[in-house]
Amino acid sequence: MAESKTVHSPLLTYFSMLSLVTLCPPFVILLWYTMTQADGSVLQTWDYLKQNGLQGFLNIWPRPTATAWKIIGVYAAFEAALQLLLPGKRVEGPISPTGNRPVYKENGVAAYVVTLVTYLGLWWFGTFNPTIVYDHLGEIYSALIFGSFVFCIFLYLKGHFAPSSTDSGSSGNIIIDFYWGMELYPRIGKTFDIKVFTNCRFGMMSWAVLALTYCIKQYEETGKVADSMLVNTALMLVYVSKFFWWESGYWNTMDIAHDRAGFYICWGCLVWVPSVYTSPGMYLVNHPVNLGTQLAIFILVAGILCIYINYDCDRQRQEFRHTNGKCLVWGKPPSKIEASYTTTTGETKTSLLLTSGWWGLSRHFHYVPEILSAFFWTVPALFNHLLPYFYVIFLTILLFDRAKRDDDRCKSKYGKYWKLYCNKMSAFDNVVGGKLKLKGKALDVKAGGVKKKKKKNKNKDQIIESTENELLAGGSAEQADDPNDQDNDDVNKSTGEEKAPHYDDHLTPAERRYIEQREQLDVNRLAKISNKSHRDRIQDFNQYLANMSEHYDIPKVGPG
Ligand code: NDP
Repeated sequence: MAESKTVHSPLLTYFSMLSLVTLCPPFVILLWYTMTQADGSVLQTWDYLKQNGLQGFLNIWPRPTATAWKIIGVYAAFEAALQLLLPGKRVEGPISPTGNRPVYKENGVAAYVVTLVTYLGLWWFGTFNPTIVYDHLGEIYSALIFGSFVFCIFLYLKGHFAPSSTDSGSSGNIIIDFYWGMELYPRIGKTFDIKVFTNCRFGMMSWAVLALTYCIKQYEETGKVADSMLVNTALMLVYVSKFFWWESGYWNTMDIAHDRAGFYICWGCLVWVPSVYTSPGMYLVNHPVNLGTQLAIFILVAGILCIYINYDCDRQRQEFRHTNGKCLVWGKPPSKIEASYTTTTGETKTSLLLTSGWWGLSRHFHYVPEILSAFFWTVPALFNHLLPYFYVIFLTILLFDRAKRDDDRCKSKYGKYWKLYCNKMSAFDNVVGGKLKLKGKALDVKAGGVKKKKKKNKNKDQIIESTENELLAGGSAEQADDPNDQDNDDVNKSTGEEKAPHYDDHLTPAERRYIEQREQLDVNRLAKISNKSHRDRIQDFNQYLANMSEHYDIPKVGPG
């Protein structure tokens, strides 16, 4: 599957790839140094670097030691053995672009439980003290940085010379091949899936192991664990437990089903997850905060709620796809779009796109609780330093970029069906600036918030316009003729003047009220007004309501 097209402009793509490959490794070391040696203060690290320059930086970069390699080696071998040996249900992944269907063994929960019980058991019985991991953390990260880089070179060579399936290939550019990877589903032998290992069993598992390590370190240092650390650890563990509970669902997501095994995903999971994702806990080891029971419980409950919502979004989509849409979503049969697409081998397939439940709220809604969960396990650190919030900030940027990449991919995969889906979502977006009342009650919308949003969403509006058949084509003729409508509207708003709406007497009160509110909210669209007949307008309006009723339960109106 040769794919040389890039989502962003080539210049931006190369710039971001090269910057990430060169800047991420030193960043990991600086993050660790600042959290553990510089009191969590970016300013302190900055002063140090200013005074000592490059040599100072090289001095703080720990060399990978034998202890670090041993810890990593034993942990990796243990996780690989669990992945291979623990029993699990046979699970099929989604069909790949070249028509393959990967098969997995679902033993993530078992591996998770065995790992944590073993780790705590080793500590409890005095066989291995997790504080050793914390004390060698810099060396471990350093070893991971170099080891994972070598591993990515191995993936690149394997993709070239011994690919595991037809879901592989070169883009013709060595940097892109190394960064994005050559293979979608690289395996060692038939069963050992490399991405399951790097992403789940090494990366995500290390998150839970390190969260416990930080907690134990604080306990061993101070004789107790602060409530801030407890909340942080509990939320991270709930999140990672959720991940393994839903691991087979993860095998359907972009990381596994779309992103190939290269530096981006594999180095990220092997190094970035254990260092950056766990960093709020790393900070708390030396910065215990006493939140008090009430605040601690509030943050814990809010965090668990967000993790649950994020899980429920993923679960909803997974169940919907799994049952081929024959399930209940929020107690009702789901609303959906049947989207056809063609694989690279020329076969036509159909996917269902869910347009109700969480997935009816907006595209990528599940990213909101994901970001909020991260906020809630970081906020126990309070606001003395910015650095603990780095993960939340990074995650927000990552998910925005991911949403864009996913939209572009789905647009090219599903074509007009994706436009239809976006259209449905945009209809919701148009009312999020105000109150949306479902079940056939009136829509109560504030125009101000929506106008701001519209400016940013010109493209989206073009799609809405074409698919909604210019519903509002029969509004006010003066506005249609006025090329400066947009400006006029701004002026009217700033002076607080209300435009007198012109509605047709033949409309029912419900239709009139609805148009009135749409007009308030959709000032730009009124610029497209033409002189359609009453009949056409009412037909357009009925069509619009019919479309909307599926989504918002607005009662259908009979022909005018
Ligand atoms: P999604 O699970 O959202 O997967 C996107 C895919 O879902 C699309 O490519 C499309 O694939 C399908 N899809 C899109 N819309 C619909 C729909 N309406 N109905 C049915 N299927 C649809 O993406 P992610 O992999 O980004 O997220 C998975 C989870 O991982 C989320 O919980 C997210 O928050 C989390 N995550 C966490 C990150 C972290 O670093 N902490 C990073 C990224 C994600 P198809 O081709 O099958 O149609």
